[in-house]
Amino acid sequence: MQFNPALLEGLRAARGLAILTGAGISAESGIPTFRDKLVGLWERYDPSELATLEAFERDPDLVWGWYEWRRMKALRAQPNAAHRAVAALSGLVPRLALLTQNVDTLHERTGSRDVIHLHGELGRPYCQMCRAPYRLTDEILDLPEGGKRIPPPWCASCGGRVRPGVVWFGETLPKHAWQAAAAAARDCDAFLVIGTSAIVQPAASLVHVARDAGALTVQINPNSTGVDEVVSFSLQGAAGQILPGLVAQTWSRDLA
Ligand code: NAD
Ligand code: ZN
Repeated sequence: MQFNPALLEGLRAARGLAILTGAGISAESGIPTFRDKLVGLWERYDPSELATLEAFERDPDLVWGWYEWRRMKALRAQPNAAHRAVAALSGLVPRLALLTQNVDTLHERTGSRDVIHLHGELGRPYCQMCRAPYRLTDEILDLPEGGKRIPPPWCASCGGRVRPGVVWFGETLPKHAWQAAAAAARDCDAFLVIGTSAIVQPAASLVHVARDAGALTVQINPNSTGVDEVVSFSLQGAAGQILPGLVAQTWSRDLA
């Protein structure tokens, strides 16, 4: 694929690069996105029954079992060419900030360090009462599609119920992660948005923050998104197809 020379120039000139990833970057690893037609999780499951604190309080076994299914899916998945291209950037760009809405930790498993997790991590459940982290075992469970009812563990410190380590609808983002993400968006010269529908706030607002601060903004997505009108360049297609070529042509590295 040939890229616009102005895009390559802009990226090459960037001292600070911030990247925001969403479910789409893991789609080619076989992890379902949320809102895509037919395959998106919210096409098949009702978020109000699974992804809110009220749902967890109403039916903890259902919610815990569904997240255990998603955790197992993520553990079995392999990173793809887009995750690898992102990981390769750490040696190529002077300042890199990687912000993700994904809870699958495929970035870390590809070697990316200091990943800022805006929506938590499947592998880091914690006590709903005292917030103490809960250590999961390494056991890989064989769960049916959509999971099954599994009672959540109890907290060893206070006896409270352990909950999935993700940010639910209606909850605020972890303060530290949000502040780091907002600072990265403000301070970067180029902002790359990969595989997110950019409609869930406040994560999507980071693109506006970067644009308003004068950064070059670039999106990679096969479909239209909430920031189509905001970004300087929209690259239409799958992240695993586009990103390795973009990185290679910008920084002259063969990653294809
Ligand atoms: P999304 O499903 O809304 O969007 C996925 C995007 O990826 C789409 O725009 C799609 O076109 C794109 N895409 C599909 N295949 C692609 C590919 N191969 N390459 C590049 N892009 C591709 O997911 P999102 O934007 O990450 O959603 C935002 C957040 O909403 C999620 O991260 C999630 O945390 C979240 N959310 C989750 C819960 C939960 O499970 N508890 C609750 C609330 C919100
Ligand atoms: Zn506790």
